Amino acid sequence: MMLAARRNLGTRRLFPTSQPPSRCISSTATRYYNWTGHTTNVARDEVAHLAATPRRSLTLADLLHHGRPPLSKDALLASANFTLSLLPARLASRIQALRNLPFIIVSNPHMSKIYHNYLHSLSSLLPYQQRKITTFEEEKQFVNVLADLVQTHTNTIPVLARGFLESRKYINPEDVTRFLDTHLRARIGTRLIAEQHLALHYTSQPVSDEVTEKSDDHFSPSNYIGVIDTALQPARIIRSCEDFVSEICELKYGVRPRLEIGGEPDASFAHIPVHIEYIITELLKNAFRATIESGNEREPIEVTIAAAPDVPRNVRPIQEDSDGRFQFASQSEPSAAQESIGYSSPSSQSITIRIRDRGGGIPPEVLPHIWSYSFTTFSEMDLENTESANLRTLDTLAGPGGRLSSIAGLGYGLPLSRAYAEYFGGSIAVQSLWGWGTDVYLTLQGVGKID
Ligand code: ADP
Ligand code: MG
Repeated sequence: MMLAARRNLGTRRLFPTSQPPSRCISSTATRYYNWTGHTTNVARDEVAHLAATPRRSLTLADLLHHGRPPLSKDALLASANFTLSLLPARLASRIQALRNLPFIIVSNPHMSKIYHNYLHSLSSLLPYQQRKITTFEEEKQFVNVLADLVQTHTNTIPVLARGFLESRKYINPEDVTRFLDTHLRARIGTRLIAEQHLALHYTSQPVSDEVTEKSDDHFSPSNYIGVIDTALQPARIIRSCEDFVSEICELKYGVRPRLEIGGEPDASFAHIPVHIEYIITELLKNAFRATIESGNEREPIEVTIAAAPDVPRNVRPIQEDSDGRFQFASQSEPSAAQESIGYSSPSSQSITIRIRDRGGGIPPEVLPHIWSYSFTTFSEMDLENTESANLRTLDTLAGPGGRLSSIAGLGYGLPLSRAYAEYFGGSIAVQSLWGWGTDVYLTLQGVGKID
């Protein structure tokens, strides 16, 4: 079926990307989508219907609200139902976006894998959508489905990157960037929602039937509310990312540059460690690579941490907009959810981290491209053409375990880090001093201090 479809549809002329999606999808594509839908019990109409459902706006405060300690039995069930109310429409809208790509792109084996992952996840959630989760037994089954969902979509970015790289002659780079930007930002939110409930479930363990039948039973509080660390110290994350990146450098170049942390290393705020880990790892990889490749490995990478002064009127709730980004709205008082989790004062509301390297800066001709997905100046063998070098890098990246352990090469580091930073109202700015080095300013918005 796939081969037949590819034979029939294998040229760009058949699918000019300027055409609206509905006209791009031929009857073969329609049959394919219906057929693949049936194999996973998700009908085409159902996906369209779910994708068109108005999105309930999501706030970070909502995520905190459901997990505020002490976590009661009812709160855990409420969190499960809240998660269930959000995920199917989000998955369906990703499926719909993939279907709106030219069919030849989705029929690429790597893209098809991504597409089927989404269909699989949606079909596993749909049976739960018909009814509410009312017992711990149902909640446990639901957690298994969520864990499978998170696992299925882990390490798929190299697969997606490869799919687009292989089919890039059939689609404009701008369309790829637009798709990836929306897709990867939506993916951040979907994972966060699923992981938040998983974390709440596991922190509430052991949940024996005996204990959980008592509705007033509470689980022990900690710094964490689900995946959110309410007393996150960026300096600690920087040190652990430094270890990881240094090891990669030692393997690849045989050296390990020094990293110094200055400013306010004790600064803390409420944020999501995995998001900050991702960003810092990517920024350190870039800084370490430039430092070593410019022959300046004796010069330390200087990291300065600055916590914005307390400004109570800056307390702002965070809300997700229609593009899937979380936004801050002005508000002078703490939100109800902030108050309900023991919010006291908005100290360290925002933290800026400057990463300064002596790696020679970014050449002016490279600078305009650094935010494009898949732009890289890294190549394992300079003599090889970029495409085959990129594909080999992707093989390494998607290798056993799929851990992104190469120093560079995918070209997703900066754009994806910016997507993570902007998700909660932060930003990344790159300042290159060509011939000397690069400063990267990462600003992250916390959710206030939670006592
Ligand atoms: P990758 O690291 O996989 O190439 P990134 O998105 O992280 O992808 O970076 C894109 C490009 O930006 C890099 O290939 C490099 O040319 C340039 N770059 C990023 N950070 C720095 C830096 N600190 N110093 C010099 N060049 C940099
Ligand atoms: Mg990089």
